[in-house]
Amino acid sequence: MKQYCQLVRHPGNQALFLAAELSILAASAGQPLHLHAEGLRGTGKTSVLRAARQVLPRLERVRGCLYNCDPENPHCPEHRGLDARSLVSLGTEVIPMPFLEISHAAKVGTVVGSIDLARLTNPSRPAAALLPGTIPQAHRGIIFVDEINRLAETSPELADILLDAMGTRPGRVQVEEAGLPVVELPVQVTVWAASNPDEDPGPLEDVRRQLADRFDLRVAMGRPAQAEVVEQMLRAADGVGTHPGAPRPEFDHAAFAGTFLPDHLRRLIAGLYVRFSVESLRGVEALQLAARACAALGGRAEVDLQDLRRVAPLVFRHRVDEENLGRLVGCLDEHLPKGERIAGALAQPAGPPDHVPPRVGLLARLWRGRQRRDESVPARVLPVAPWARARPLRELPPEEWVRPGDDLRP
Ligand SMILES: [Zn+2]
Repeated sequence: MKQYCQLVRHPGNQALFLAAELSILAASAGQPLHLHAEGLRGTGKTSVLRAARQVLPRLERVRGCLYNCDPENPHCPEHRGLDARSLVSLGTEVIPMPFLEISHAAKVGTVVGSIDLARLTNPSRPAAALLPGTIPQAHRGIIFVDEINRLAETSPELADILLDAMGTRPGRVQVEEAGLPVVELPVQVTVWAASNPDEDPGPLEDVRRQLADRFDLRVAMGRPAQAEVVEQMLRAADGVGTHPGAPRPEFDHAAFAGTFLPDHLRRLIAGLYVRFSVESLRGVEALQLAARACAALGGRAEVDLQDLRRVAPLVFRHRVDEENLGRLVGCLDEHLPKGERIAGALAQPAGPPDHVPPRVGLLARLWRGRQRRDESVPARVLPVAPWARARPLRELPPEEWVRPGDDLRP
C-alpha cells in the first residue's frame, strides 16, 4: 500500500487530495460530505482514496459494538434502550474511523445485514440476531465504492440502498430477514466512489442520475501533464523516491465545529444559487459545509472568500453546466481583492485542473480553454492566436516563420 503523504501530488490530482481531506474532517464532525472521483483508468484515483485510510482520525464507541455506537448517543438495537448506568458499565474503546469497501458485485445481505447464523446455532443459547452488514458497520466512517457506475447498472437494488444511506442527514438502512421483524437503523456514513466515465456502462449520471446528484463533491481526475511529475512518480515506484512528501493532515473536529460563515458570504452563496440556476439547495448547503471544512483545515475559524473559491469547483462541477461553472468561479474571483487573487494564484502555482488562475476577460477564457484541453474535455475556446502582435510574413526572417513549442503563455 502506498503511503498517503508520499503520493506525488500534481495539478491533475490535487483536487482529489483536498476533497478527501474535507470529507474526512466533515465525517469526523458527523456531517457527511459524499465524494465521487471520476477519471480515466490509471489516473490513481483509487490509490489516493484507499491510501487516505492511513490518515483517518480515531473515534470512541461503546466497547465491542459492531455498529460503532456513539457512547453519548447509542443507536443500535442492543444499546439504544440502555440507561446511562448500564452504558457506563459497558465502557468505551477508541478505534480507527471505519473505512469499508463495497464491490460492484456485492450482495444485499452483506451490505445491509443478515441473520447471525453463529448466534442462531449456538448450542448453549440460540438466539435470532442480526449481523450488521457493511453499511451499518461503517457508521461514523467511510464506505468506498469503486466502479460505482457498474454497481448502479448491475445492482439497482444496491444503488437504492446507497441512496437511502446518503439521503437525509442522517441516512438510514433497513434490514429485512424472513422470520425477523424489519429493523431500521439510522446510519451516518460518508460515501466515497470512483468511476471511469469512458468505460462501460458510461458516466454515472447517465446510468443513475439520482445517485450521481447525491454526491456533494465531484472531482475530475487528470493525468500528470508534466514530464518532471511523471519522473518523480517513476522514482517513487522504483523505491528511490526522495521527495519530502506532504505533511500529515490534522483532522480537528472541535475546530471544525467552531468554524462559522460570515453573513456577507452567506449572502454571496445565496446570490450564486439564484444567478447560476443551481439545481438543488443541496448544492449550496454542500458549499457552505465544504467551505467550513476548508477553513478548519487551514487553521481558521472564519470562512473567507478563498475557501469558497477553492471548494466551489468541487461542489458545482456536476450541478451547473460548464459555461455557468466558468462564470460562477469568475464571479468569486471578481470578489477577491486584487492582492489576494495574486496570493491565491501563487499559493497554488499549478493548482488542480479546475483551479483556474484568476485572470480577466479574454485571457481568462483562453486559459480555461487550455485547462479544459488538459482534462481532455472539448475546449470551448482553444487558444490558437500568438501572443505577440501579428506582423506580415514578408517582414519576418525565415527562421521565425515557424516557431517550435506550443506554450502560449506570455
Ligand atoms: Zn451499539
